[in-house]
Amino acid sequence: METDFSEFDAIATYFKDLTAQGGVALGIGDDAALLNTSADHQLVVATDTIVESVHFPPQATAEQIATRALCVNLSDMAAMGAKPRWFTLALTLPSAKANAQWLEGFSRGLAAVAGQYDIALIGGDTTAGPMTISLTLLAEVPSSDALQRSGAKAGDALYVTGTLGDGAAALEMINSRDSTHSERLLTRFYQPKPQVDAGIKLRTIASACIDISDGLIADLGHLCQASGVRSNIQTDLLPIHRELHQLWPQRALEWALSGGDDYQLCFAVPQPYQQTVDQWIEAGDLDATLVGQILAPDNTNNLVIVDGDISTDFKRGFDHFSH
Ligand code: ADP
Ligand code: MG
Repeated sequence: METDFSEFDAIATYFKDLTAQGGVALGIGDDAALLNTSADHQLVVATDTIVESVHFPPQATAEQIATRALCVNLSDMAAMGAKPRWFTLALTLPSAKANAQWLEGFSRGLAAVAGQYDIALIGGDTTAGPMTISLTLLAEVPSSDALQRSGAKAGDALYVTGTLGDGAAALEMINSRDSTHSERLLTRFYQPKPQVDAGIKLRTIASACIDISDGLIADLGHLCQASGVRSNIQTDLLPIHRELHQLWPQRALEWALSGGDDYQLCFAVPQPYQQTVDQWIEAGDLDATLVGQILAPDNTNNLVIVDGDISTDFKRGFDHFSH
């Protein structure tokens, strides 16, 4: 279906101005909202929805759907440097799946991730219809410590956590009919590891942070836009798992730059803190890699430059209405 709007135009035109002022420290536009609920802490809130055949294939098990829904939502909390505490669940389920076996698997998946991150299910809604899982996560952060997309400055170093391209590779593997199989990639897809500990560790260190859900170039573009800067990515530094190079040598780099569903953090670090971050990485206390630098703005629209080349065609990220 052709639409007049991109997903991002729709949000900016129809929803962004509805942000109420009372107690809203940060409204629509970041990975989560920040609400002033007490003198020393802010409440962090975000909603994410996953839909069958859009975000997961119809053959996914109930347990896989549950773990993916929760991990994806936790990733937005990680991007804010917040400590997740509670969540609500809006579950829309086709009647055929509303049976004890499906619900037991779904509940087991939720419990596994909720237990790992010490979060509690506090409410929700259950309806019949095409399978859709919508979660709202609530988290806490000490006032003024939250990481945001804005704040990066020219000269900051740019890092990403984990490895990139695994989400896109997993999708290729799941959708293709050949026999390529990787248990690691399957886990990365259905149980992406939200970088909550990394986000909390980086709270007072990183100048800006975003989680990579739509691809590095697209999400780094959002960080640059919010911060009023540009950035350069050095492709020879990108952390790409050797499995991707072995199985898809022609596509690994493209997926690392613009594939979606990685749920890693991309963050900027001011020069005085770079040594601290590098020491954490060296000591194994932070799984992250230096991938580039933040540059001063210019009057072009090229927010993300790859290897100093402004003409790269890896620019597109994921937009739900452009397909
Ligand atoms: P993310 O990829 O981190 O989940 P999105 O790209 O989905 O973020 O959304 C960008 C911003 O727009 C977020 O701050 C989100 O809360 C907000 N947003 C998205 N859809 C809506 C909506 N229907 N109403 C209000 N805000 C929305
Ligand atoms: Mg996000």
